[in-house]
Amino acid sequence: MSSTTLEEKQYLLRFRCDTKSHLTVLDHDICATKCPDKICTVFCPAEVYKWEGSRMQVGYEGCHECGSCRIGCPYQNIKWEYPKGGHGIVFRLA
Ligand code: SF4
Ligand code: SF4
Repeated sequence: MSSTTLEEKQYLLRFRCDTKSHLTVLDHDICATKCPDKICTVFCPAEVYKWEGSRMQVGYEGCHECGSCRIGCPYQNIKWEYPKGGHGIVFRLA
């Protein structure tokens, strides 16, 4: 029996990116001063959140829409919405 690797599965993902982010970090000062672990950079499977010096960068284009950041941020500092209709991730079957 053959198994599919994670890389092969990710190859099946397609993204229809909007020009506006559906993810918002509400207060960047909280990230900088109260959240030393920056846990969103760990739990997000798509590595959307990247800490760049003094600010959280949000690469919303690659979001898998798993919803983890709605509950994973210890400060409820991420506003998560679905992408606008017709945008976002598209799962294709092999
Ligand atoms: S987990 Fe929340 S508070 Fe912490 S760095 Fe990420 S967005 Fe900021
Ligand atoms: S919904 Fe999931 S994939 Fe998208 S930014 Fe949040 S944790 Fe990452």
